[in-house]
Amino acid sequence: MLKIDIKEFHWMMDMIQHLDVGLIVLDKEYKVNVWNSFMENHSGYTPNDVIGKNLFEVFKNIPESWFKRKSESVFLLNNRAFTTWEQRPYLFKFKNYRPITGSAAFMYQDITLIPLTSVDGTVNHIGVIIYDVTDIAVNKLGLKVANEELGILSRTDMLTKLYNRGYWEERLLHEFSLHKRNKQAVSLVMFDIDHFKKVNDTYGHQAGDEVIRVTSKLLIDCKRETDIAGRYGGEEFAVILLDSTAQNALLFTERLRKRIEESRVSVGSDSIKFTVSLGISDLTEKTQDYEEWLKQSDMALYRAKESGRNQSVIYDVNLNGAIK
Ligand code: GH3
Ligand code: MG
Ligand code: MG
Repeated sequence: MLKIDIKEFHWMMDMIQHLDVGLIVLDKEYKVNVWNSFMENHSGYTPNDVIGKNLFEVFKNIPESWFKRKSESVFLLNNRAFTTWEQRPYLFKFKNYRPITGSAAFMYQDITLIPLTSVDGTVNHIGVIIYDVTDIAVNKLGLKVANEELGILSRTDMLTKLYNRGYWEERLLHEFSLHKRNKQAVSLVMFDIDHFKKVNDTYGHQAGDEVIRVTSKLLIDCKRETDIAGRYGGEEFAVILLDSTAQNALLFTERLRKRIEESRVSVGSDSIKFTVSLGISDLTEKTQDYEEWLKQSDMALYRAKESGRNQSVIYDVNLNGAIK
């Protein structure tokens, strides 16, 4: 039998006590056998409070069945097991005291479970090692938020908060490809503010901007959550209407057109009235690519302008042109 000098054993225990990681030894009944100073300092429980007690009775918030499932494989298979903060942010809910990463409400933890083999080769105990990975987690989460914000920023039009043209066109291409497979009805609406130059000339560019903002607000009000709206150009807007035939789209465009017609934008003592013209085209088997689809809506819009503005026009493929 291996003999350990009692002095050496003492040193070893001393080291374990002062490691900057949490160390717990559990037996098969999940009773605590070792509880080092890291655990004591962060939990507020002394070894006296916990040793010999069932872990789940002292720490009621530990997900018992999950932890047992993890541990059982360590006992049975004599294998290590790991979980990271990304799978489960923590095992023990400890306060985060780090000065730099003080923004985190709790300590993020990586956990390793190791089998502790007895001299007869059986595993009757496991070691649970708890690493404080708050710094890493906070940095990574911060980066993720920053990247998400950057992503949103790069696809948003600043004046209207609608999708910008680049991102909206990506979505158009995506919906075009999707339709090729699922054949579901989908329509495209392009619209443009009528005589917008006059608004700018009469009331100034700022008033023009406000008219664009109000238009996009009304557009968001009228469209469904799933419809994809973008600012296509200066005072041009585009909307992809999912699950909608051209006739369904017409109900939408007429609703929007009337709302816009009724709205007023106040500039000083002036009250600006304005209207829009809208072109609709649904996606059919004959449509070659998304550029053609766009062109068809644009042609319908052009026809709406030509026919007197403040109206909706559906593109008609059979007539190879637009009809009202
Ligand atoms: P139509 O009925 O034929 O559409 O007439 P229109 O006057 O609206 O004609 P057009 O579409 O050619 O004019 C658009 C004008 O919109 C030209 C440009 O100076 C102005 N514009 C483009 N972007 C902005 C913007 O962000 N803010 C403002 N205030 N004006 C813009
Ligand atoms: Mg215009
Ligand atoms: Mg225009």
